[in-house]
Order: sequence, then structure tokens, then C-alpha cells
Amino acid sequence: MTDASVPITQDVLTVPRKLQLGPINLVGLPRIELHDALIEAGTNAKQAKMRTGQIWQWIYQKGVREFDQMTNLSKDYRTFLKERFVVMVPEVVSKQVSVDGTRKYLIRIAGGHEVETVYIPEKDRGTLCISSQVGCTLTCSFCHTGTQKLVRNLTAGEIIGQVMLARDDLNEWPEPGRNPVNTARLLSNIVLMGMGEPLYNFDNVRDAMKIAMDPEGISLSRRRITLSTSGVVPEIARTATEIGCLLAISFHATTNEVRDQLVPINKRWNLDTLIDALREYPKVSNSERITFEYVMLKDINDSDADAHRLVDLIKGIPAKVNLIPFNPWPGAPYERSTNNRIHAFSEIIYQAGYASPVRKPRGEDIFAACGQLKSATERERKSRKEISAETGL
Ligand code: SAH
Ligand code: SF4
Repeated sequence: MTDASVPITQDVLTVPRKLQLGPINLVGLPRIELHDALIEAGTNAKQAKMRTGQIWQWIYQKGVREFDQMTNLSKDYRTFLKERFVVMVPEVVSKQVSVDGTRKYLIRIAGGHEVETVYIPEKDRGTLCISSQVGCTLTCSFCHTGTQKLVRNLTAGEIIGQVMLARDDLNEWPEPGRNPVNTARLLSNIVLMGMGEPLYNFDNVRDAMKIAMDPEGISLSRRRITLSTSGVVPEIARTATEIGCLLAISFHATTNEVRDQLVPINKRWNLDTLIDALREYPKVSNSERITFEYVMLKDINDSDADAHRLVDLIKGIPAKVNLIPFNPWPGAPYERSTNNRIHAFSEIIYQAGYASPVRKPRGEDIFAACGQLKSATERERKSRKEISAETGL
């Protein structure tokens, strides 16, 4: 049974791809739309396919933003492009670097909104945690992003733009003549685990991830991209067929009663409905395993009984369980489970045959850990409110 009183679609502002005024930004357009935009602007139809390929490679393989640097195009054609188009990624407002090397970028997008992107370096790889919305409509009770009022969907350009600006900062665009595929990547993985619910912005997320996977561009394997959802059931099958990336699911509870409290979307699509959709995912996407994310909240969802119930629920699904120690934020109504509890919980899952790693919190000193992302201005507003509540001023 589902609760029809919880809204399925959310009232979020989606920015049209082509703004009425000013030049069109080419970043984020799927190949076919780039092709059509070139023709619409007056490019010779016979040449449009070749031009699309050339411009695509400059933007996504070489990281070039200025048409003047696209040296295999004629001077006249570069001028033609310059008058009609731009190649733009969001502006980095600030960058913070943690003692553990994690980098957090605060970026500004059209309309002056802010979102955060986090780069997490590891030994021989690096993961970029990207945002899909400004804020989130879903109000999970343990998540800081969910307390942010303002919500807008990011465009595909703003989503793939986060990958591009991180590569700028990491200085990872290939030197001319160097084959990017044969060198170890600093930015080797993408997780859609920043701000927002990616499946409530499906089309833009899909278009951006297609660009990330395109072999003539950023060229990341679909197995290096993980989309995390709180459980938007009707979009799960499309994630398999239209994107084909790996799936992570914010599970967090083993009874509907508790999950209703933690992840309110459960009132719309409950555990049974969710599990049914997940059973189909690996078959449709041909992917290996689903990651079950499970935030460890003291005395809420961390008992031995929970661990056993979790194992029962996921029986038969190729899975791994990622335990996330709760990352606190000011005013959060929960505490992190103790280390002993987390390890006892992990052990039960491991004994049942599932990998059950405990996620190491990264970037805590710069407030960049899972579930802590919230735009700086919003955070400021909240803390001022809190201060006035405390002081009575
Ligand atoms: N909206 C998507 C993706 C973003 S959140 C989703 O919910 O899946 C990425 C992960 O961090 C999710 O599993 C989320 O539930 C978890 N998370 C949120 N707040 C957290 C917190 N304070 N501490 C630890 N994990 C948190
Ligand atoms: Fe939104 Fe995910 Fe946070 Fe829930 S956990 S409020 S779905 S960002």
C-alpha cells in the first residue's frame, strides 16, 4: 500500500536549456542537440556532423572553453560560433581543502543559486560527488540538505559542468597528443550523492551522465558512475535502461515505521515496493551489485535485529551494504552510533555473505561529508536563526 497524500512530483523550477536572451551555452547539450543548434544557427547541413564531433572533442576531451582555441576550425567558423554560442561551466565561488585532501567547491549557477561539489582523493583514484538540485524537496530527517527551503533542478550543463570545473582545478585535461585513457585518472569516479534527489531531475542527470560516459569526451565507464536515490521507484527502471550506471539506494531502515520517519518518500513507495523494483535492476542494467546505503543512527536503526532484518529483506539481490556513520550538523536530531555498534552490525551482514564496509567520513573539518551539504548562504541563515533563538536577540 502507498500513501497517496505524499506528493509524487515536486514543485521545482526547471531552467529551460535555451535561455531566450543571449548566446546558447553548448555545455550539456546532447550530441544531437548540439548538431541541431549548429544547423539552426546556419552551419552547412553537410558539415554539421563533422563540426559537432570537432567541437565536442574540444569541449569534453580537451577542456577548451574559447572558440579561438579550436584550431582545426577555420577562423571564419570560429568567429561565427563566437557570435552565437558560449562554452560555460558554473563559477567556483570558493574552494576549501580538508586536512585529508578532500576538496569542496561552492559553485554559483544561473539565478545566483549555490550548490556544492566535493572531490575525494583516494590512493589510486578519486571520486567526485556531484549535486543534481539546489537543495532537496525530500526532507529526510537526518540530512542537512533536506532542511534547505529553496529547490531548483540543475541543468545538464550545470551537472556535467561540475565534472569539468573539478578537472580544471585538478589540472587534468590532457596535454595535446596524450591519450587520456592510458593515464591514471585523478577524477576516476562520479557519485551522484551531493545535494538533491537525482531521480527527480532525471532527464538532465541522464543527459549529463551520457556526456560523462561518451568515449570521445570525458570517457568514464558506466561502472564508475553511481547514482544514489532515496527510492523514487517509478524512475529506477529508467536509470537502468537509459543511463546504465550503478545504483545506490538510501535504505536506512528495515521497517516501514522507522523508514517513514527517516526517509519520508517511504510513505509513497514503501519497502516492499522498493525491494521489488530493486530486484529487477541488475537484470535490466546488467550491473553487478546494488549498494545499499545505511546511515548509522544511535538507538534508531542500529540494533542486531535491524541487521538481521536487513539481510532478510535484501535476500536474493546482488548487493553490498555501505554503512555510513551519521555525520552530524548543527541542530540535528540524531547521534552517530558507537564504533562498537557499527562493527557489530557490519559483522552480522558480513556473516550473511554481503560486503559491509563502513564508510570513512571524509572532509569533516570543511563540512563536506555525506549529508552535510547545504549552500553556504542557507547555512549562514540557519545558524543566525539558531543564534537568535539561543540568545533571544
Ligand atoms: N538524494 C540522494 C543522494 C544524496 S545523499 C539520496 O538520498 O540517496 C547521499 C547519501 O548520504 C544518502 O544515502 C543519504 O541518505 C546520506 N546522508 C544524508 N545525510 C546524512 C548524514 N547527515 N550523515 C550520513 N549520511 C547522510
Ligand atoms: Fe534529499 Fe537525499 Fe537528503 Fe533525503 S538524503 S533529503 S533525498 S538529499
